[in-house]
Amino acid sequence: MQQEVKLLIKLQAVDLEVKHIQDKKEEGPKGLRHIEKKAKEQEEDLKAVLGTQEELKQKKKGKETELEDEIAHLKKCQGKLMAIKTNREYQALLKEIEEIKKANRKREDEIVAVMEDIERLEKEIKEKQEELSKIREELTIEKGKLDSLFHKYDKELAKFEVNRKTMVKDIPEELLKRYDFLRSKRNGLAVVGVLNAVCLGCHMNIPPQLYNELLKEKKMIYCPSCQRIIYYQDVPKAANEKG
Ligand SMILES: [Zn+2]
Repeated sequence: MQQEVKLLIKLQAVDLEVKHIQDKKEEGPKGLRHIEKKAKEQEEDLKAVLGTQEELKQKKKGKETELEDEIAHLKKCQGKLMAIKTNREYQALLKEIEEIKKANRKREDEIVAVMEDIERLEKEIKEKQEELSKIREELTIEKGKLDSLFHKYDKELAKFEVNRKTMVKDIPEELLKRYDFLRSKRNGLAVVGVLNAVCLGCHMNIPPQLYNELLKEKKMIYCPSCQRIIYYQDVPKAANEKG
């Protein structure tokens, strides 16, 4: 195999590692975003329940004030009973008193029902708050994990960058340009083997004449289908069968 192809294969191995790390760096925050979304949904859920509970508290307050007023009204009516002269007026006031009492009993029942609703929501709010703090805790843990992971990735990337700088020194500029161009167009794979006259990059057959040239290993050969730099490979290599 030509020296330049050997160098490119080595360089590609480094570049694929770098790409792999960059992909992982991109993937990393996705999990976080999922938890952040969960936290936000839970916050909104909680806010809605708190709002409903506040409305119920206001409703209860209103009914209590109403009941207090009606209790005062009732006392006033009861006080008036003594001063009444005619039986007709007396009966009418008694009837009114009964009606106030009846309405107040209804008010009391309503207040109890609202209080029960408030209590039920209290339980729900507590559960939602607990769930929210669990999610927030998870978020903090995952953020910490991601931070240290990113730190590790960046250290690896820096190391690869140094390696790459040394490696490219031995590769002719034009070839390197072509390699970088192919790499960007072909999902990181610019140099591939040819096994049994089949390009391992695009899985197309290499025409016999070109294949003969390839076997001579004298000059750079490019796959006519995918334009990748190709080399003769007699043993399958897992790394070259990707993408
Ligand atoms: Zn090809």
